[in-house]
Amino acid sequence: MKIGKEIIQVGERKRFQLEVASLYDYTQLTIPIEVICGKKEGPVLFISAAIHGDEINGLAIIKRLLKRPILNRLKGTLIVVPIVNVFGFNNRSRYLPDRRDLNRCFPGHQQGSLGSRLASIFTREIVNKCTHGIDLHTGAIHRYNLPQIRASLDDPQTKALAECFGAPVVIHSRIRDGSLRESARKKKVVTLLYEGGQALRFEEEIIEVGLSGCLSVMREIGMLPRSRTQRPKSAPAIQIAQSSYWVRAPHSGSFRLSKKIGEHVEAGALLATISNPFGHDPHDVRTKEPGVIIGLSKIPLVNRGDAMIHVATFKKSKRVKDSGDFFDQ
Ligand SMILES: [Zn+2]
Repeated sequence: MKIGKEIIQVGERKRFQLEVASLYDYTQLTIPIEVICGKKEGPVLFISAAIHGDEINGLAIIKRLLKRPILNRLKGTLIVVPIVNVFGFNNRSRYLPDRRDLNRCFPGHQQGSLGSRLASIFTREIVNKCTHGIDLHTGAIHRYNLPQIRASLDDPQTKALAECFGAPVVIHSRIRDGSLRESARKKKVVTLLYEGGQALRFEEEIIEVGLSGCLSVMREIGMLPRSRTQRPKSAPAIQIAQSSYWVRAPHSGSFRLSKKIGEHVEAGALLATISNPFGHDPHDVRTKEPGVIIGLSKIPLVNRGDAMIHVATFKKSKRVKDSGDFFDQ
């Protein structure tokens, strides 16, 4: 395996920095990478985090994963990239210095802008060498997400991995133009996007679900030996959502939530009440369709039309089981 100038031999574990850009003062900017090359052949998996620089739960997932002794028994190659958008990370920002979103710059271009070049290097040096990928995200700043997998469920292999990850909700999600996931899919790299929690936090539940998900995927594709302990029977069923919608504020004001993340809601259920500064003039915020709450705004202040609550919907109208016990915030 060769990444940038580094050569990683069979059976070797190597940590290095990949040069991606030069700053105004000519400081070289680099992305930290660790590669574990197993002694036996197998899949090549990348696990990336902080493509949005302030989404750092994935960094904690990778830190914990790398401490696992089971990695000594790895088949194939694991490439971990705990911080892809190093600019945003150091500035605690989602974006690149020119306010571009790196996850809209893929596959990138060698002669393009900063984001496009970074995406191009990542595609060439990492994605193109892989058979599988997991991209770790969180909700945007001041948004909180239930742990969830987003993937193109049209592809049976992707669907099987999405389910084996073990997050409480899997969402069939259309590909976004310019995203790492789209670019990887075009190269036939089976890729999942894990998303959970909020930006600029290390959140224990999100990290644990993400860590066990990465390990499950590695077992499923034959990189790690299968665990003797199966998924416990008491574990809540994974729900596969066909789509999702945002409930928007019907009025400006401050609000109080009536439901929690992960809760099942019926059509017309009361989600929140918006009122004026004296607590009067209440406006109910209600669901349109039944589903499960998978995302919330953490700022209790809204203008009319602002996205407040994200609800995943399910194909069959039958009642879906609460995810609340799986994840109680
Ligand atoms: Zn993100």
